[in-house]
Amino acid sequence: MPNFGPHLRRQAGRACPPCARPGGSPGRPGPGVPPTGAVLPGVRILGVLLTVLSLTGCALPPSATAVPDPPDDRPVVLTTFTVLADMARQVAGDHVRVESITDVGVEIHGYEPTPDDLRRAADADLVLDNGLGLEAWFERFVAGLDAPHVTVSEGVATIPVGSGGMQGRPNPHAWMSPDAAIRYVANIADALADLDPVHEGAYRANAAAYTAELRAVRDALVDRLDRLDPARRALVTCEGAFSYLARDAGLAESFLWPVSSDAQGTPQQVARAITFVRERDVPAVFCESTVSDTAQRQVARETGAAYGGVLYVDSLSLPGGPVPTYLDLLRHDTEVVAAALTGAAS
Ligand SMILES: [Zn+2]
Repeated sequence: MPNFGPHLRRQAGRACPPCARPGGSPGRPGPGVPPTGAVLPGVRILGVLLTVLSLTGCALPPSATAVPDPPDDRPVVLTTFTVLADMARQVAGDHVRVESITDVGVEIHGYEPTPDDLRRAADADLVLDNGLGLEAWFERFVAGLDAPHVTVSEGVATIPVGSGGMQGRPNPHAWMSPDAAIRYVANIADALADLDPVHEGAYRANAAAYTAELRAVRDALVDRLDRLDPARRALVTCEGAFSYLARDAGLAESFLWPVSSDAQGTPQQVARAITFVRERDVPAVFCESTVSDTAQRQVARETGAAYGGVLYVDSLSLPGGPVPTYLDLLRHDTEVVAAALTGAAS
């Protein structure tokens, strides 16, 4: 059995359990919250508390600064980014406290962990990473950690990156295939069952229900994109993060840069995309929420293609945004792509 003692100590005053429900808000503040490294720890903790309370809709009682909340003795699971945090919450239910190291909207490939992140990891009971080279910073991050860490992409059939700094290595964005995500969910359920065997039955049941939802979303996604005119079935994005989705949906794929750890929006990348769009007469191009759309808008201007909108891959949105959950992300991207490629969005 894991020893949850440290959490009994450190959780006092931080918890807001009714607001930390599965499918609810990520466990950390979103964009606009300043980097944490230079801030005094006490100020930082209070700032995070206030921000989390405001994001989750928890009212701050007048006495909250003086009287700590009851201790939250649930195990703490730390994920590297918001998509994994949502998946873990769906499997964990209320039995685990799930947090994301990176905030909504943050670029996750080249993230630089802060001293506060390191403290959180040291206190966590379990750390979940995507693996496949997604988190370039992760190995350094977990070096010397006592908490176990589990790579949730273990066992997924990968697609290699075709060019750039990660050429020949697995494309890390495997969660963009619902089938691969089903493997993620099984791995998360195994990890939670190892961490907290008392609630294994609940984790298995949650994982089974979530897997059924994933299958339904996958079927709807494939069906929606399958109805596109074959001449329009090409997906042009900023990052090459859609290889798995494109494979599942039978779409040709082009992108400006292979992975967001590569140079972004170089003249050569823009020229290649322009050639692809012109040769195939692609009706719309897209960019992702965590990167600049400047180069892709240039491609649209120079080719006459529509700018089809923002896709989500490496981050969810805030709770009130378009993709507060991973299933919302799949549904949103499917609809944005289908609408733009059929001309419905223009
Ligand atoms: Zn990415």
